[in-house]
Amino acid sequence: MEKMKAVVFRGINQLVTEEVPRPAPRAGEAVIRITATTICGTDVHIVKGEYPVRPGLILGHEPVGVIHELGDGLDDEFTVGDRVIVGAITPCGQCFYCWNGAHSQCGGALGGWRFGNTINGAWAEYLLVPHARANLALVPPDLTDEQVLMLPDIASTGISGAESGNVRIGDSVAVFAQGPIGLCATLGARLRGASLVVGVDPVAERRQMARRFGASLTLDPKTDDVVTCLKQLTDERGVDVAIEALGRQDTFETALRSIRPGGVLSSLGVYSGKLVAPYDALHAGLGDQRIVTTLCPGGKDRMRRLIAMVREHRIDLTPLITHRFALDDIGDAYDLFSRQGDGVLKVALFPAAKPEQIAAADHALVTCARV
Ligand SMILES: [Zn+2]
Ligand SMILES: [Zn+2]
Repeated sequence: MEKMKAVVFRGINQLVTEEVPRPAPRAGEAVIRITATTICGTDVHIVKGEYPVRPGLILGHEPVGVIHELGDGLDDEFTVGDRVIVGAITPCGQCFYCWNGAHSQCGGALGGWRFGNTINGAWAEYLLVPHARANLALVPPDLTDEQVLMLPDIASTGISGAESGNVRIGDSVAVFAQGPIGLCATLGARLRGASLVVGVDPVAERRQMARRFGASLTLDPKTDDVVTCLKQLTDERGVDVAIEALGRQDTFETALRSIRPGGVLSSLGVYSGKLVAPYDALHAGLGDQRIVTTLCPGGKDRMRRLIAMVREHRIDLTPLITHRFALDDIGDAYDLFSRQGDGVLKVALFPAAKPEQIAAADHALVTCARV
Protein backbone atom coordinates (compact mmCIF):
# COMPACT_ATOMS: atom_id res chain seq x y z
CA MET A 1 0.00 0.00 0.00
CA GLU A 2 1.27 3.47 -0.88
CA LYS A 3 2.07 5.77 2.02
CA MET A 4 1.76 9.50 2.62
CA LYS A 5 2.74 12.04 5.24
CA ALA A 6 -0.07 13.38 7.42
CA VAL A 7 -0.64 15.28 10.65
CA VAL A 8 -2.64 13.06 12.98
CA PHE A 9 -4.59 14.09 16.09
CA ARG A 10 -3.46 11.63 18.77
CA GLY A 11 -5.22 13.20 21.76
CA ILE A 12 -5.45 16.54 23.52
CA ASN A 13 -2.49 18.77 22.53
CA GLN A 14 -0.93 15.92 20.54
CA LEU A 15 -0.40 16.57 16.82
CA VAL A 16 1.93 13.97 15.32
CA THR A 17 3.34 13.86 11.79
CA GLU A 18 3.11 10.23 10.64
CA GLU A 19 3.39 7.96 7.61
CA VAL A 20 -0.12 6.66 6.93
CA PRO A 21 -1.76 4.74 4.06
CA ARG A 22 -2.55 6.92 1.04
CA PRO A 23 -6.33 6.89 0.40
CA ALA A 24 -7.79 5.28 -2.73
CA PRO A 25 -11.10 6.47 -4.22
CA ARG A 26 -14.20 4.32 -4.57
CA ALA A 27 -16.94 5.13 -7.09
CA GLY A 28 -17.95 8.78 -6.84
CA GLU A 29 -14.92 9.73 -4.75
CA ALA A 30 -11.71 11.50 -5.71
CA VAL A 31 -8.25 11.75 -4.22
CA ILE A 32 -6.51 15.08 -4.50
CA ARG A 33 -2.86 15.89 -3.88
CA ILE A 34 -2.85 18.81 -1.44
CA THR A 35 -0.77 21.79 -2.59
CA ALA A 36 -1.85 24.25 0.13
CA THR A 37 -3.94 24.19 3.28
CA THR A 38 -4.29 26.17 6.49
CA ILE A 39 -5.20 26.07 10.18
CA CYS A 40 -8.62 27.21 11.42
CA GLY A 41 -9.64 28.39 14.88
CA THR A 42 -11.89 25.32 14.99
CA ASP A 43 -8.79 23.11 14.70
CA VAL A 44 -7.43 24.82 17.82
CA HIS A 45 -10.68 23.96 19.66
CA ILE A 46 -10.19 20.33 18.57
CA VAL A 47 -6.53 20.10 19.58
CA LYS A 48 -7.28 21.65 22.97
CA GLY A 49 -10.04 19.08 23.51
CA GLU A 50 -12.87 21.63 23.45
CA TYR A 51 -14.54 19.99 20.45
CA PRO A 52 -14.20 16.19 20.52
CA VAL A 53 -13.05 14.18 17.51
CA ARG A 54 -11.65 10.65 17.54
CA PRO A 55 -7.90 10.23 18.10
CA GLY A 56 -6.21 8.94 14.95
CA LEU A 57 -8.00 11.43 12.71
CA ILE A 58 -6.10 13.64 10.24
CA LEU A 59 -7.24 17.23 10.88
CA GLY A 60 -7.67 20.21 8.52
CA HIS A 61 -10.68 21.26 6.45
CA GLU A 62 -9.36 23.82 3.95
CA PRO A 63 -7.96 22.02 0.89
CA VAL A 64 -6.38 23.37 -2.29
CA GLY A 65 -4.95 20.70 -4.59
CA VAL A 66 -4.73 18.78 -7.82
CA ILE A 67 -6.86 15.76 -8.75
CA HIS A 68 -4.61 12.73 -8.32
CA GLU A 69 -7.07 9.87 -8.84
CA LEU A 70 -10.75 9.63 -9.73
CA GLY A 71 -13.16 6.91 -8.66
CA ASP A 72 -15.61 5.52 -11.22
CA GLY A 73 -18.31 7.78 -12.61
CA LEU A 74 -16.54 11.15 -12.61
CA ASP A 75 -14.43 11.33 -15.76
CA ASP A 76 -17.13 13.10 -17.79
CA GLU A 77 -16.66 16.18 -15.62
CA PHE A 78 -13.16 15.96 -14.11
CA THR A 79 -9.67 14.96 -15.25
CA VAL A 80 -6.62 13.86 -13.31
CA GLY A 81 -4.38 16.92 -13.01
CA ASP A 82 -7.24 19.46 -12.67
CA ARG A 83 -6.57 22.09 -10.00
CA VAL A 84 -9.38 22.22 -7.46
CA ILE A 85 -10.54 23.51 -4.14
CA VAL A 86 -13.05 21.70 -1.95
CA GLY A 87 -15.29 23.45 0.55
CA ALA A 88 -14.75 22.72 4.23
CA ILE A 89 -18.31 21.44 4.13
CA THR A 90 -18.94 18.58 1.67
CA PRO A 91 -22.68 18.02 1.27
CA CYS A 92 -23.91 14.89 -0.53
CA GLY A 93 -26.51 16.87 -2.48
CA GLN A 94 -29.08 14.07 -2.17
CA CYS A 95 -30.29 13.63 1.42
CA PHE A 96 -33.31 15.14 3.18
CA TYR A 97 -31.30 18.13 4.44
CA CYS A 98 -29.64 18.81 1.10
CA TRP A 99 -32.97 18.69 -0.71
CA ASN A 100 -34.38 21.09 1.87
CA GLY A 101 -31.60 23.62 1.34
CA ALA A 102 -29.69 22.92 4.58
CA HIS A 103 -26.61 21.57 2.80
CA SER A 104 -24.25 22.17 5.70
CA GLN A 105 -26.50 20.01 7.90
CA CYS A 106 -26.23 17.15 5.34
CA GLY A 107 -27.43 13.93 7.03
CA GLY A 108 -28.06 15.67 10.39
CA ALA A 109 -26.72 18.45 12.65
CA LEU A 110 -23.32 19.68 11.40
CA GLY A 111 -23.23 16.58 9.16
CA GLY A 112 -21.85 18.39 6.13
CA TRP A 113 -18.64 19.09 8.05
CA ARG A 114 -16.72 15.90 7.41
CA PHE A 115 -13.02 16.81 6.83
CA GLY A 116 -11.06 16.72 10.06
CA ASN A 117 -14.28 16.05 11.98
CA THR A 118 -15.72 12.68 10.95
CA ILE A 119 -13.31 11.71 8.13
CA ASN A 120 -9.64 12.40 7.46
CA GLY A 121 -8.81 15.99 6.59
CA ALA A 122 -6.41 18.13 4.58
CA TRP A 123 -3.26 18.23 6.73
CA ALA A 124 -1.69 15.58 4.55
CA GLU A 125 -0.13 14.99 1.16
CA TYR A 126 -3.37 13.47 -0.17
CA LEU A 127 -7.06 13.83 0.68
CA LEU A 128 -10.04 11.60 -0.12
CA VAL A 129 -12.98 13.76 -1.26
CA PRO A 130 -16.42 12.20 -0.71
CA HIS A 131 -19.36 13.02 -3.00
CA ALA A 132 -16.79 14.38 -5.45
CA ARG A 133 -19.22 15.49 -8.14
CA ALA A 134 -20.94 17.79 -5.66
CA ASN A 135 -17.73 19.10 -4.15
CA LEU A 136 -14.76 19.43 -6.51
CA ALA A 137 -14.56 23.05 -7.71
CA LEU A 138 -12.18 23.80 -10.58
CA VAL A 139 -9.64 26.59 -10.10
CA PRO A 140 -8.78 28.62 -13.22
CA PRO A 141 -5.08 28.53 -14.16
CA ASP A 142 -4.64 32.29 -13.70
CA LEU A 143 -5.36 32.11 -9.96
CA THR A 144 -2.69 31.12 -7.44
CA ASP A 145 -3.20 28.68 -4.57
CA GLU A 146 -2.97 31.54 -2.09
CA GLN A 147 -5.68 33.51 -3.88
CA VAL A 148 -8.18 30.67 -3.32
CA LEU A 149 -6.89 29.22 -0.02
CA MET A 150 -9.33 31.22 2.14
CA LEU A 151 -12.40 30.25 0.10
CA PRO A 152 -13.17 26.73 1.44
CA ASP A 153 -13.93 28.02 4.94
CA ILE A 154 -13.06 31.54 6.08
CA ALA A 155 -14.45 33.52 3.16
CA SER A 156 -17.48 31.27 2.72
CA THR A 157 -18.32 31.44 6.43
CA GLY A 158 -17.63 35.13 6.92
CA ILE A 159 -19.53 36.31 3.87
CA SER A 160 -22.45 34.03 4.82
CA GLY A 161 -22.81 36.06 8.02
CA ALA A 162 -23.93 39.01 5.90
CA GLU A 163 -26.02 36.82 3.60
CA SER A 164 -27.86 35.06 6.44
CA GLY A 165 -28.38 38.44 8.09
CA ASN A 166 -30.02 39.55 4.83
CA VAL A 167 -28.00 42.77 4.75
CA ARG A 168 -29.70 45.20 2.40
CA ILE A 169 -28.49 48.26 0.49
CA GLY A 170 -28.14 51.16 2.92
CA ASP A 171 -28.15 48.98 6.05
CA SER A 172 -26.01 49.67 9.10
CA VAL A 173 -24.01 46.63 10.20
CA ALA A 174 -21.76 45.94 13.16
CA VAL A 175 -19.37 43.00 13.07
CA PHE A 176 -18.21 41.70 16.44
CA ALA A 177 -14.59 40.47 16.34
CA GLN A 178 -12.27 41.08 13.42
CA GLY A 179 -10.37 37.82 13.23
CA PRO A 180 -10.25 36.12 9.81
CA ILE A 181 -13.98 35.22 9.84
CA GLY A 182 -15.06 38.61 11.19
CA LEU A 183 -12.98 40.36 8.54
CA CYS A 184 -14.72 38.32 5.84
CA ALA A 185 -18.08 39.18 7.44
CA THR A 186 -17.10 42.85 7.20
CA LEU A 187 -16.24 42.29 3.55
CA GLY A 188 -19.57 40.50 3.05
CA ALA A 189 -21.54 43.36 4.60
CA ARG A 190 -19.84 45.77 2.21
CA LEU A 191 -20.48 43.50 -0.77
CA ARG A 192 -24.16 43.25 0.16
CA GLY A 193 -24.46 47.05 0.05
CA ALA A 194 -24.36 48.16 3.68
CA SER A 195 -23.76 51.89 4.02
CA LEU A 196 -22.28 51.80 7.52
CA VAL A 197 -20.06 48.88 8.53
CA VAL A 198 -18.53 48.98 11.99
CA GLY A 199 -15.76 46.54 12.91
CA VAL A 200 -15.44 45.82 16.64
CA ASP A 201 -12.23 44.31 18.02
CA PRO A 202 -9.86 44.99 20.93
CA VAL A 203 -6.70 44.43 18.82
CA ALA A 204 -5.41 47.53 16.99
CA GLU A 205 -3.90 45.61 14.02
CA ARG A 206 -7.19 43.82 13.47
CA ARG A 207 -9.11 47.10 13.53
CA GLN A 208 -6.67 48.43 10.96
CA MET A 209 -7.23 45.37 8.77
CA ALA A 210 -11.00 45.86 9.19
CA ARG A 211 -10.74 49.21 7.41
CA ARG A 212 -8.97 47.43 4.57
CA PHE A 213 -11.80 44.87 4.39
CA GLY A 214 -14.51 47.53 4.14
CA ALA A 215 -15.27 48.81 7.64
CA SER A 216 -16.37 52.47 7.66
CA LEU A 217 -15.07 52.79 11.19
CA THR A 218 -13.96 50.60 14.05
CA LEU A 219 -14.61 50.41 17.78
CA ASP A 220 -12.42 49.08 20.58
CA PRO A 221 -14.62 47.25 23.14
CA LYS A 222 -11.93 47.87 25.78
CA THR A 223 -12.32 51.63 25.61
CA ASP A 224 -15.55 52.34 23.71
CA ASP A 225 -19.08 51.75 24.99
CA VAL A 226 -19.98 49.82 21.87
CA VAL A 227 -23.78 49.75 22.26
CA THR A 228 -23.96 53.48 23.00
CA CYS A 229 -21.67 54.31 20.06
CA LEU A 230 -23.70 52.18 17.65
CA LYS A 231 -26.93 53.82 18.81
CA GLN A 232 -25.40 57.27 18.32
CA LEU A 233 -24.43 56.31 14.78
CA THR A 234 -27.99 55.18 13.95
CA ASP A 235 -30.28 57.93 15.31
CA GLU A 236 -30.51 56.00 18.60
CA ARG A 237 -32.12 53.01 16.87
CA GLY A 238 -29.36 50.40 16.83
CA VAL A 239 -27.88 48.71 13.78
CA ASP A 240 -30.00 46.81 11.27
CA VAL A 241 -27.74 43.77 11.44
CA ALA A 242 -25.13 42.64 13.94
CA ILE A 243 -22.80 39.78 13.03
CA GLU A 244 -21.25 37.80 15.88
CA ALA A 245 -17.97 36.21 14.78
CA LEU A 246 -16.37 35.11 18.03
CA GLY A 247 -18.63 32.70 19.91
CA ARG A 248 -18.75 34.17 23.39
CA GLN A 249 -21.60 35.11 25.72
CA ASP A 250 -20.41 38.72 26.06
CA THR A 251 -20.13 39.42 22.32
CA PHE A 252 -23.44 37.64 21.66
CA GLU A 253 -25.15 39.77 24.27
CA THR A 254 -23.56 43.01 23.07
CA ALA A 255 -24.54 42.13 19.50
CA LEU A 256 -28.14 41.53 20.64
CA ARG A 257 -28.22 44.87 22.48
CA SER A 258 -26.81 46.61 19.39
CA ILE A 259 -29.56 45.76 16.93
CA ARG A 260 -32.66 47.88 16.46
CA PRO A 261 -36.13 46.46 17.16
CA GLY A 262 -36.84 44.22 14.16
CA GLY A 263 -33.13 43.87 13.47
CA VAL A 264 -31.10 40.72 12.89
CA LEU A 265 -28.38 39.08 14.93
CA SER A 266 -26.48 36.87 12.50
CA SER A 267 -24.32 34.49 14.49
CA LEU A 268 -21.22 32.73 13.15
CA GLY A 269 -19.49 32.02 16.46
CA VAL A 270 -18.88 28.55 17.88
CA TYR A 271 -20.24 28.59 21.44
CA SER A 272 -19.69 26.31 24.35
CA GLY A 273 -21.64 26.10 27.60
CA LYS A 274 -24.84 28.04 28.07
CA LEU A 275 -25.81 30.96 25.84
CA VAL A 276 -28.20 33.45 27.45
CA ALA A 277 -30.40 36.12 25.85
CA PRO A 278 -31.34 38.56 28.65
CA TYR A 279 -34.96 39.67 29.00
CA ASP A 280 -34.30 43.38 28.40
CA ALA A 281 -32.06 42.82 25.38
CA LEU A 282 -34.77 40.64 23.83
CA HIS A 283 -37.47 43.23 24.66
CA ALA A 284 -39.21 40.50 26.67
CA GLY A 285 -39.26 38.34 23.56
CA LEU A 286 -41.45 40.83 21.67
CA GLY A 287 -38.83 42.89 19.81
CA ASP A 288 -39.32 41.26 16.40
CA GLN A 289 -35.60 40.53 16.36
CA ARG A 290 -34.30 37.57 14.43
CA ILE A 291 -31.36 35.46 15.54
CA VAL A 292 -29.93 33.29 12.76
CA THR A 293 -26.99 30.90 12.91
CA THR A 294 -24.93 29.67 9.97
CA LEU A 295 -22.41 26.90 9.41
CA CYS A 296 -20.01 27.52 6.52
CA PRO A 297 -21.78 26.95 3.17
CA GLY A 298 -19.93 24.36 1.06
CA GLY A 299 -20.34 22.44 -2.17
CA LYS A 300 -18.91 23.16 -5.60
CA ASP A 301 -21.34 25.88 -6.63
CA ARG A 302 -20.58 27.94 -3.52
CA MET A 303 -16.88 27.57 -4.32
CA ARG A 304 -17.49 28.48 -7.98
CA ARG A 305 -19.18 31.71 -6.92
CA LEU A 306 -16.39 32.66 -4.53
CA ILE A 307 -13.73 31.84 -7.14
CA ALA A 308 -15.61 34.12 -9.57
CA MET A 309 -15.46 36.94 -7.01
CA VAL A 310 -11.69 36.52 -6.70
CA ARG A 311 -11.20 36.28 -10.44
CA GLU A 312 -13.18 39.45 -11.11
CA HIS A 313 -11.19 41.28 -8.42
CA ARG A 314 -14.23 41.85 -6.24
CA ILE A 315 -12.52 40.24 -3.26
CA ASP A 316 -8.88 39.67 -2.30
CA LEU A 317 -8.26 37.44 0.70
CA THR A 318 -4.48 37.25 0.37
CA PRO A 319 -3.86 39.91 3.06
CA LEU A 320 -5.18 37.35 5.57
CA ILE A 321 -2.20 35.07 4.90
CA THR A 322 0.41 36.51 7.22
CA HIS A 323 2.71 33.48 7.64
CA ARG A 324 3.83 30.49 5.56
CA PHE A 325 5.13 27.08 6.62
CA ALA A 326 6.01 23.70 5.17
CA LEU A 327 3.59 21.06 6.51
CA ASP A 328 6.66 19.52 8.20
CA ASP A 329 6.72 22.62 10.41
CA ILE A 330 3.11 22.29 11.55
CA GLY A 331 4.26 22.35 15.18
CA ASP A 332 5.65 25.88 14.78
CA ALA A 333 2.68 26.96 12.66
CA TYR A 334 0.17 25.65 15.19
CA ASP A 335 2.01 27.23 18.08
CA LEU A 336 2.09 30.65 16.38
CA PHE A 337 -1.56 30.46 15.28
CA SER A 338 -2.99 29.13 18.54
CA ARG A 339 -1.33 31.78 20.71
CA GLN A 340 -2.01 34.49 18.07
CA GLY A 341 1.63 35.54 18.07
CA ASP A 342 3.38 37.98 15.73
CA GLY A 343 0.16 39.57 14.38
CA VAL A 344 -0.88 36.29 12.75
CA LEU A 345 -4.21 36.13 10.95
CA LYS A 346 -3.89 32.93 8.91
CA VAL A 347 -0.97 30.62 8.15
CA ALA A 348 -0.54 28.86 4.81
CA LEU A 349 0.78 25.28 4.95
CA PHE A 350 2.47 23.64 1.97
CA PRO A 351 2.75 19.81 2.11
CA ALA A 352 5.23 19.56 -0.77
CA ALA A 353 7.56 22.34 0.33
CA LYS A 354 10.78 22.06 2.29
CA PRO A 355 11.08 24.55 5.19
CA GLU A 356 14.02 26.37 3.54
CA GLN A 357 11.98 26.93 0.35
CA ILE A 358 9.26 28.65 2.37
CA ALA A 359 11.73 31.01 3.98
CA ALA A 360 13.03 32.05 0.55
CA ALA A 361 9.55 32.43 -0.96
CA ASP A 362 8.33 34.46 1.99
CA HIS A 363 11.17 36.86 1.51
CA ALA A 364 10.34 37.26 -2.17
CA LEU A 365 6.69 37.97 -1.37
CA VAL A 366 7.54 40.56 1.22
CA THR A 367 9.82 42.29 -1.27
CA CYS A 368 7.06 42.33 -3.91
CA ALA A 369 4.51 43.73 -1.49
CA ARG A 370 6.74 46.72 -0.78
CA VAL A 371 7.30 47.62 -4.43
ZN1 LIG B 1 -12.77 26.21 9.93
ZN1 LIG C 1 -26.85 15.60 2.08
